[in-house]
Amino acid sequence: MLPGRLPRGWPVGRDGSGLTRVRIGRVPTGWTSSLRKLRWTSSAVLAAGATGLVLGGGIVSLACPFRTVFGIDCPGCGGSRMIGALLRGDFAAALDFNAFGLLVVLPLAAVLLIAGARVELGRAARMWPSGRTGLLAAVALGVAIVAWAVVRNLPGAEVLLA
Ligand SMILES: [Zn+2]
Repeated sequence: MLPGRLPRGWPVGRDGSGLTRVRIGRVPTGWTSSLRKLRWTSSAVLAAGATGLVLGGGIVSLACPFRTVFGIDCPGCGGSRMIGALLRGDFAAALDFNAFGLLVVLPLAAVLLIAGARVELGRAARMWPSGRTGLLAAVALGVAIVAWAVVRNLPGAEVLLA
């Protein structure tokens, strides 16, 4: 085919033929490619970070509906104050505000974010273990949340947990 008869805009090689290698864009490789695949994980990190800054930084203060209604702490009570203390670098205060959140929920959230990233990158099939292991992990987490809710509201718990 002669160059003059090629469709308008058709890439033409140096030799005048229509058969040429066309560079249509840089193919991402390495960590930049991996980063672009992490849409869910990066969104989750941004959302968690923004929420942590807004609540932990004291920009927005929410009264706990559970505590308002029942007059006792829910498992999450003190969570935003715990994050605020962490942001100030006061680990002891963070532990005092919500030990379960600091020692269980935040590490679990980090593990789930890493697991989510591995799923997005095709390196893992799921974020949570499947079958019996996954069920046991979910039950153990549920039991731990309920136990934390009970323990933190026991008389004298302020002394024990402080
Ligand atoms: Zn609460």
